[in-house]
Amino acid sequence: MNFHDLNAQYQALKPQIDEGIAEVIKGGHFILGGQVSELEARLAEDTGRNYCVTCGNGTDALVLLLMLWGVGPGDAVFAPDFTYFASAACAAAVGASAVPVDICLNTFNLSPEALETAILRVQQEGRLRPRVVVAVDLFGQPAQYDRLSAIAKKYHLLLLEDGAQGYGGSINGKAACSFGDAAITSFFPAKPLGCYGDGGAVFVDTQEEADLLRSLRANGRGKQDKYDNQRFGMNSRLDTLQAAILLPKLDALRRYELSAVNHAAQRYTDRLTGAVTVPYVPVGYTSSWAQYTVLLESEKQRDEAQKALKEQDIPSMVYYPRGLHRQSAFSDRDFSDSDYPNTLNACERVLSLPMHPYLTDSEIDRVSDVLLDFVRRNEYAPHP
Ligand SMILES: *Cc1c(COP(=O)(O)O)cnc(C)c1O
Repeated sequence: MNFHDLNAQYQALKPQIDEGIAEVIKGGHFILGGQVSELEARLAEDTGRNYCVTCGNGTDALVLLLMLWGVGPGDAVFAPDFTYFASAACAAAVGASAVPVDICLNTFNLSPEALETAILRVQQEGRLRPRVVVAVDLFGQPAQYDRLSAIAKKYHLLLLEDGAQGYGGSINGKAACSFGDAAITSFFPAKPLGCYGDGGAVFVDTQEEADLLRSLRANGRGKQDKYDNQRFGMNSRLDTLQAAILLPKLDALRRYELSAVNHAAQRYTDRLTGAVTVPYVPVGYTSSWAQYTVLLESEKQRDEAQKALKEQDIPSMVYYPRGLHRQSAFSDRDFSDSDYPNTLNACERVLSLPMHPYLTDSEIDRVSDVLLDFVRRNEYAPHP
């Protein structure tokens, strides 16, 4: 059994993907070819955001946005403590300071209460200027944008939607990557919309922002000619080959993959409710199920459950084993465990199960049976 199954997807989309690749090679426009602008237009339309500018990967997408906003030394960038490192590390790339914030244990997303506390503390300390909130759509489920937007407005902060894992999710019919002041996504192969290498995109509302991003992703290129450089940026573009691969994949995501992962998630939830803590999806929210993540009772039970699955050749993953505040890259900062109770709890108890659009009902049942059997044996075992 596979945790993700890119091969099954390739088998389903082989004719379109192969044809797309062949066309790019024949056309010879490997950098910013026609497929890149076609994809950008499709992504903008698909998310309902006015402009999409693709780039080399999701991490660069975050950094490009911070550059666009002029974020730099002395600025505080708030990000959830429980996420992939890049959500906060982007701050360091522009000389700003990341401030990790605790999460809600039921959604694994940024806690509005903890965010407000962290903003007030930074204001009070007076060393950093609160500038940006990075909200992550963790495991495919959008963050709580109604409350996060209100807080960002109240304190005059920019709100960035990190939709690297969230592409395809929605809140009341509004698509992921359309929330906040701007958004990003990643096309890393294992994300809900993945390519065959690295790739990313930025989503913004105005032509002016899109133009500036196009300049920033091409070493600050100006309008005069190819060697006119008006500002400092980076070299970060999506390969034309990757755009050609993403076009049929975007189509498949909308046609059937999102409904397939939602079917799979529902089947897991129906089978596992009561035995483990299943994912919580608030009313009006939909997830694109980058991960299906359950909570066991303790670290010991989680580790043993993972072992029981492994014995049956079922892969599972711990996303994430530690919070950002404990990453050694931040060892010069004095973050305290006591500010991150929910992250610490999640890190000990989370387990992500195999999840992808090509998972069969019988595979889901097999994973569930092994887990249910493990929990039952665990319950009746005498406590040491
Ligand atoms: C994967 C990921 C990124 C970074 O994307 P890359 O394309 O790997 O650079 C950023 N944020 C989150 C939440 C991610 O999961």
